[in-house]
Amino acid sequence: MARAPHTDTVAVHAGRDDLTEIGVHAPPIDLSTTYPLPDVELGGDSYEALATGGTPLPGGSNVYARLWNPTVARFEEALARLEGAEAAVAFSSGMAAMTAALLAHTTSRARPHVLAVRPLYGGTDHLLASGLLGTEVSYCEASEISSSLRPDTGLVVVETPANPTLDLVDIADVVAQAGSVPVLVDNTFATPVLQNPLAHGAAMSLHSATKYLGGHGDVIGGVIACDEKTAESLRPVRAITGAILHPLAAYLLHRGMPTLPLRVRAQQATAATIASWLQTHPAVADVFYPGLSGSPLIGSQMRGGGAMLALRLRGGYDAATRVASGLRVFSHAVSLGGVDSLVQHPAALTHRPVASEAKPDAGILRFSIGLEHVDDLIDDLAQALDGILSGAVPERVGAMRV
Ligand SMILES: *Cc1c(COP(=O)(O)O)cnc(C)c1O
Repeated sequence: MARAPHTDTVAVHAGRDDLTEIGVHAPPIDLSTTYPLPDVELGGDSYEALATGGTPLPGGSNVYARLWNPTVARFEEALARLEGAEAAVAFSSGMAAMTAALLAHTTSRARPHVLAVRPLYGGTDHLLASGLLGTEVSYCEASEISSSLRPDTGLVVVETPANPTLDLVDIADVVAQAGSVPVLVDNTFATPVLQNPLAHGAAMSLHSATKYLGGHGDVIGGVIACDEKTAESLRPVRAITGAILHPLAAYLLHRGMPTLPLRVRAQQATAATIASWLQTHPAVADVFYPGLSGSPLIGSQMRGGGAMLALRLRGGYDAATRVASGLRVFSHAVSLGGVDSLVQHPAALTHRPVASEAKPDAGILRFSIGLEHVDDLIDDLAQALDGILSGAVPERVGAMRV
């Protein structure tokens, strides 16, 4: 048997297998909201198949774009292949994907309890804490999963690397402790290039596609890689709640896939260099970067340290505000995973809705490393960090206190 193709090759070709057959070179964008029905009976059967979570019937119809869209399906096929999954289901945002995963596994199965490990993305923490979906959350350490499960636990939620301190969670260990309860891993920070949670037993690998998958800061979306049975439980929720990804967004996400492995590896190499350099700077108290942690999960669970890093400044909140406003090459903005480098203050921004006991330290800044040259990024960091030591960079006017 021929060996399986490398990730780079899959990234370029997945979801494009039929293009030659249909006589085009770039994937077509299908903007239809409704589709011709062959006849009443096959139309009805097509609707039934899609509304109950299946895929289109042979010779049948896509019926209606809230149920199924071929451009979205191409992106799903590509992501599933990269994750080594049977299927993937794409949503209008990462939070729409998280919402569907929660609805499909908890309230709709009368198991409303969610067990989660902090830190989590601020929006996920907020959604769980709000109880908006009828869920009840409790938080525990990754080592306490088995002792914290309840008979009504429907889902275990973890994020690794976790936002913003880049803590790593041992997925296989969490899965073993969770037993029959499905485990969802938010894989946004690692991307399928560096980590495949399903290979370690997770039921779902969730991505905010807005981040690395899109990679250019111009598309919002979410996706869950899983087995076909799980996909069949997610698709009806997506259809009912109207959370399907738009085909133009799907086209852009699919277009970004061929460069994903190159982007992630280049961004990771730069992040590793910057993390080591930051450790030598006197204004910096701690550097959070998985590649520096010495964790045995690097190399086994995760293929490298990734391209996200964070630091804690000795000067606390004041120093953090000065560095964030003193940087010139890094843009001061939330989000991550794009071609340009970003800096943001988690306690004031992304983790603002998180309860105070779980809020990140006010001296922490989080960096998403882009594709600029490493020398230019280090020079920029040097001038901003040297500035707080010399007091040369003024505090931003009207800066918010946290
Ligand atoms: C951004 C993000 C989300 C939410 O995704 P959206 O596309 O913004 O809805 C979830 N998890 C992580 C880790 C994220 O960074």
